[in-house]
Amino acid sequence: MDHFQLIDGQLCAEQVPLADIARDVGTPVYVYSRATFERHARVFREALSGLPSVHIAFAVKSNPNLAVLRLLSKEGYGADVVSEGEMNRALAAGMPAEDIVFSGVGKSKRELTAAVKAGIGQFNLESEEEGVELAAIASELGATATCALRVNPDVDARTHEKISTGKAENKFGVSYDRAAGIYARLSALEGLNMRGLAVHIGSQISDLEPSRQAFVKMGALMEELRAQGLSVTHMDLGGGLGVPYKGNESLPTPADYGAMVVEVTKGWDVTVMFEPGRVISGNAGVLVSEVIRVKEGTSAPWIVVDAAMNDLARPAMYDAWHDFAAVKPTGETFTANVVGPICESSDTFAKNREVDVVKAGDLVVFRTAGAYGATMANTYNSRALVPEVMVDGDAWALVAGRIEPETILAAESVPDFLV
Ligand SMILES: *Cc1c(COP(=O)(O)O)cnc(C)c1O
Repeated sequence: MDHFQLIDGQLCAEQVPLADIARDVGTPVYVYSRATFERHARVFREALSGLPSVHIAFAVKSNPNLAVLRLLSKEGYGADVVSEGEMNRALAAGMPAEDIVFSGVGKSKRELTAAVKAGIGQFNLESEEEGVELAAIASELGATATCALRVNPDVDARTHEKISTGKAENKFGVSYDRAAGIYARLSALEGLNMRGLAVHIGSQISDLEPSRQAFVKMGALMEELRAQGLSVTHMDLGGGLGVPYKGNESLPTPADYGAMVVEVTKGWDVTVMFEPGRVISGNAGVLVSEVIRVKEGTSAPWIVVDAAMNDLARPAMYDAWHDFAAVKPTGETFTANVVGPICESSDTFAKNREVDVVKAGDLVVFRTAGAYGATMANTYNSRALVPEVMVDGDAWALVAGRIEPETILAAESVPDFLV
């Protein structure tokens, strides 16, 4: 459920007409709903209320906007970060360092050092080599780095190949068979406090069975470690729960997911950790755009909008679907293609789709754009970096300004040898 709905025939974010925001900020622009973020954060937490001890770390990579992180911090969420830049955002948003999990397959020495100094709550180690390096860094600083070992459970998440992370062929984590040995060796190192295991099998998961299988395997590994006298107090089950992108899609709900986790983790006697991203942020944002013109096509007309693959990359990257609608729908529909202005055929948002009838100058939205939207934006074709707005009831604020192509041009220069 979200808070983007028609009021008096025009699409609003909570109480604010999207047309008001478009008029003041220009298009394209991302618009987030505070109430929707809060609702998702509470629904997800509520779904886990059957667990004795829980830590939820929002996957910052899905939406790193400072206002979003601040909002989730107020909801008691920590952060799952994958770079020093994301860590600094979470800290700037007021999240306690203790509540931050540092994930990522290629944390650099500089990043590990900065994170130890910041007092990050948990490092999810992706290899034995990383653990050895972190132990040395922490010892040198007279600190102890608290860690979990990320394990690759070799299960197929049955999601899009490019967002699958838990198969043996994927680069993430250490192999299941080697995990116990690595955990034991890392536990013996000065500078590390190994406290648990981590797993994350992929994103936009629409079937709970692979996750269940992965969690069962992690539980067995946990028992194996304990049988060897090793301590396991935390189990990080990652993120990945999918959201409906098509109006009529039916997916497992947070409640379904929570019930499965409660059943699998029964008797584990640990703090269970989660790293949800999309399920919190996906439906909390839309991308507002303006139709530049409608061009005649061979099979269907082309709706050329002022948003492009640089603003919303998911359709070009993952063949992803985003519902498309007019901000002031007339009730009439037609079959059309929706494309952006970029000089690439992959700059296509919809093909031969039944959509609201629109004409040049009309405002339109791409829905479910709050996750992996603005954060993947770039300036390809020397376009601006897209701005972001957050709505709260009948109020709204610009939470990321548009970065104009001129600003980027100003960072470039012609070297002396070309003058
Ligand atoms: C991307 C990622 C997440 C979040 O995934 P969602 O599908 O957005 O929930 C969580 N943990 C790790 C390690 C990730 O890489």
